[in-house]
Amino acid sequence: MLSKIAQSKHLIGRPAVTPGLKLFRPGGSLPRQRAQVTDVGKALNTDGSTISPLFNTGTTLNATNSNLHPVATALVTQRDEFWRKVSVWQGVSANDFLSYRWSVAKLLKFLQAVVPELVPLDKSGTRMQTREEFIKDVLNGVTAATMAIRMTPYILSRVNWEDPRHDPIIRQFLPMKSLLMPDHPKLALDSLHETADSPVKGLVHRYPDKALFLPTSVCPTYCMFCTRSYAVGADTDTVTKASLKPTRKRWEEAFAYIESQPGLHDIVVSGGDSYYLQPEQIRLIGERLISMPNIKRFRFASKGLAVAPTRVLDESDGWVNALIDISNQAKRAGKAMAWHTHFNHPNEISWITSEASQKLFEAGVMVRNQAVLLRDVNDNVETMSKLIRQLADNNIFPYYVYQCDMVERVEHLRTPLQTILDLEARMRGSIAGFMMPSFVVDLPGGGGKRLACSFQSYDRETGISTYTAPAVTGRDKENKVYEYYDPIGPL
Ligand code: SF4
Repeated sequence: MLSKIAQSKHLIGRPAVTPGLKLFRPGGSLPRQRAQVTDVGKALNTDGSTISPLFNTGTTLNATNSNLHPVATALVTQRDEFWRKVSVWQGVSANDFLSYRWSVAKLLKFLQAVVPELVPLDKSGTRMQTREEFIKDVLNGVTAATMAIRMTPYILSRVNWEDPRHDPIIRQFLPMKSLLMPDHPKLALDSLHETADSPVKGLVHRYPDKALFLPTSVCPTYCMFCTRSYAVGADTDTVTKASLKPTRKRWEEAFAYIESQPGLHDIVVSGGDSYYLQPEQIRLIGERLISMPNIKRFRFASKGLAVAPTRVLDESDGWVNALIDISNQAKRAGKAMAWHTHFNHPNEISWITSEASQKLFEAGVMVRNQAVLLRDVNDNVETMSKLIRQLADNNIFPYYVYQCDMVERVEHLRTPLQTILDLEARMRGSIAGFMMPSFVVDLPGGGGKRLACSFQSYDRETGISTYTAPAVTGRDKENKVYEYYDPIGPL
């Protein structure tokens, strides 16, 4: 499989892909096709159109219309219709925006409509580029990226379109060729060696008591820095993805392996993204895990709360009800289920996030966040502190901040190890300890997560840090020394 990926390298430099529209396919069984530039929409659950009464309030939304508990209502101070600032969505009602079914758009057409004639080329705004130059830069970036392009209307509406080039959200999801940097020679598509650590396809077993189940390879948005660039999303011009289709046969093989390992107690259901599982698939996986005597804990990983929180509030969509039901079933069985989500910047959080989080909080669903440290997105104390505090205020536990993995085509997003060390040193003590995230490095080569500050050595000159992982054994990992390499640029 990896050799197949390697063979695809000759595709680098092919012409730009043809713009077109591609809809989400619920269940994640994407056809094997090249990524399309315009993949920003989704068409899920096309029957039924009931909107949560919370939002069926016309054009002016205010907290007095809420069905929330008064304390929660006080948290939502202003329900501004922020998406109307995007020119092409000026006429979009709250009913439409809050419905999970609302969402078909074309990226190229969208950019032409929303990007101003001139946008800043540098942060000071002294140099400008034209809209056409910006769009050309994005299209050239798409041909070089390892990840397909997919963004939700919600997350697109959180972008500052007056300065898209420096926007912390755009930077995560849209590649710009002029910002890409040559890869560090140690970068790899599967930098964590997940494929090598998979006894069954789509089931990574690295830690003694925990395994990672990958039921699908589709997400509501695709992050340029994805750990799983080798498998997640549609093929791109540079990468033919390892297929992790949601087939029952593959799932049964994974379940059989989990059941056969008495030492396994904790399962992470990820992907891809659990938002792309159907409600009945959430129930199937959850009930199966609850029924296994060896499994005590499991989590569904989904970025959905960060990029499409409307779904949590959309009563016509059954995903969150399935999750809440499984959470309750797990509790009755004396087990713990959690939702692990993925916010990276405070701009991703709105009043819709707050209401969605409150709904989950009231329903007793534990939500934890796993952020990734990214250059010019969240690599300063002010931004990271604001993110952590806003997550905490929404009862989303700020579980981890990850050093960006050493995956290909993300050199421009990586930070030196020193950055994460400094962030932790400056932030610890600024918020209650149980809300303070662990700052970790997921060791290249499959050593698992280690506290960033637990390095054995760190040479700031060469940018090489070393770690050991005594608890991770097997497959010649005993006494192994793992190396993380800082990006070359800042050295
Ligand atoms: S949501 Fe997670 S799995 Fe999906 S592209 Fe982003 S980082 Fe990768």
